[in-house]
Amino acid sequence: MDCIFCKIVAGQIPATLLGETEHSIAFKDISPRQPIHILVVPKTHHSNVADLAFEDPTGLVDLVQLGSKLAAEYSTGSFRLSFNTGIEAGQSVFHAHGHITSNTPKNQ
Ligand code: AMP
Ligand code: ZN
Repeated sequence: MDCIFCKIVAGQIPATLLGETEHSIAFKDISPRQPIHILVVPKTHHSNVADLAFEDPTGLVDLVQLGSKLAAEYSTGSFRLSFNTGIEAGQSVFHAHGHITSNTPKNQ
């Protein structure tokens, strides 16, 4: 399958990794829309967050936990966790991922 996030998980294309668990990885979004913009991604392929919720609920909880941990590390604690689901909602990569965004980096 030609999936860019599967390739990042496999180490076949580079990304700025910020964290990892057994089930999930986190890396910087290549085109940040906020001062903090981190993607949290399941290591296994699911097309979107709805599929992930049904196919691997443990993986979804793990992803939210990793994202929350990184948000606490990099922001003052206020952050958004969002999941675009479907083309019309703005999804462009069809491997489930959460966007952690924040306007309040910790060291500013
Ligand atoms: P979405 O539009 O919700 O599917 O989000 C996809 C996100 O992936 C966008 O914010 C892109 O900037 C980001 N993105 C695409 N390719 C890469 C990449 N190679 N490394 C990091 N982020 C990427
Ligand atoms: Zn994938």
